[in-house]
Amino acid sequence: MSCPLCEQVRRCRGEGDPSFIAALPHSFVVLGSNQGLRGWCVLILREHREHLAELPSEVQREVFGEVARVAAAIRAVFPSSGVDGGPPRINYECLGNQVNHVHWHVIPRHAGDPDLRNAVWGIAAETLRGTMGEIERRALVEELRGAIVGSD
Ligand SMILES: [Zn+2]
Repeated sequence: MSCPLCEQVRRCRGEGDPSFIAALPHSFVVLGSNQGLRGWCVLILREHREHLAELPSEVQREVFGEVARVAAAIRAVFPSSGVDGGPPRINYECLGNQVNHVHWHVIPRHAGDPDLRNAVWGIAAETLRGTMGEIERRALVEELRGAIVGSD
């Protein structure tokens, strides 16, 4: 059975994915299709693994480092979202309920978020999707890429 995230990894390797932000040692970072919460990124493990615990412990630590690096980039790209230089919250979600290839949603919860105390999944789908157009998506991809590459 084909895995949609393995397919996306293949597109990222070939740079044929317009959502592609950055290649990290263990993962690819892409801009999420939902942009109602601007800057929502998805970090996809390069290899198909269903469980984080299948990875060697050193790799697990490095993957967590990559997740944190994405969060830092999001905070750098939206410095005025919160009072202390970035979105007041970053949500980290590794669910696997729908796609069983280890991936992380790294989701900024900006100041003014209508439901900051709850997980995003209760927010209406249309609100999560947002209204960002292609030109704006490409610009945000470039900004996030600059912030991630600049943190190397
Ligand atoms: Zn996969």
